[in-house]
Amino acid sequence: IEYKKNLIPYTREQLVGKVQEKLDDKRFQHCLRVEQQAIQLAKENNYDPEKAAIAGLLHDYAKQRSDHDFIKVINDKQMSPDLLDYGNAIWHGIVGAEFIKDELHIFDEEILNAVRRHTVGAPYMTLLDQIVYMADYIEPGRDFPGVDEARKITHESLKKGVFFQTQQTLKHLIENSKPVYPGTITTYNAWQSAI
Ligand code: GDP
Ligand code: FE
Ligand code: FE
Ligand code: FE
Repeated sequence: IEYKKNLIPYTREQLVGKVQEKLDDKRFQHCLRVEQQAIQLAKENNYDPEKAAIAGLLHDYAKQRSDHDFIKVINDKQMSPDLLDYGNAIWHGIVGAEFIKDELHIFDEEILNAVRRHTVGAPYMTLLDQIVYMADYIEPGRDFPGVDEARKITHESLKKGVFFQTQQTLKHLIENSKPVYPGTITTYNAWQSAI
């Protein structure tokens, strides 16, 4: 996809280069697949494929930063200290958006919010938020029990996909005795009452 709308100060090739620089090949390839999956979901849901592509490509931009780098941003920017109780899984989206602003000079809040919300979701999610959240979960490289059901549900109804992912993630975290970020539960409650 070629960028035509000047949403960001780069061509697609330039942005791909910026993402590739910060990630190992496995994570970079995942970002390229999320980009393509987001374009498909955008087309299915009458959303701007260009904006979906940018947000999809960028969603894991900060995934491979050190805990030290994330903690520094949380403290320097006076983000919620509660974030310090979690780790990379929670930080790379919510805090990762700050790296996109500071390093890439991308300030489009719709794109930044889609990055912030791609792991734990939110009670209210824009169409772009939903597209990136689901593209990340069902991109063709994903292989986990239930992924085919997730794909089927998501292509039938994006919103049902959002609920399905949230429910599956919550189950998985609890079954594996992992800490649950409160935002994940807030997302679950909001979407179960909407479905
Ligand atoms: P990825 O970055 O492409 O691997 O995918 P995500 O950003 O969607 O998720 C990253 C990890 O965060 C996954 O392993 C999720 O299971 C995990 N995760 C999602 N919600 C929570 C939560 O509430 N608490 C914790 N500890 N992990 C979570
Ligand atoms: Fe992620
Ligand atoms: Fe995700
Ligand atoms: Fe991802």
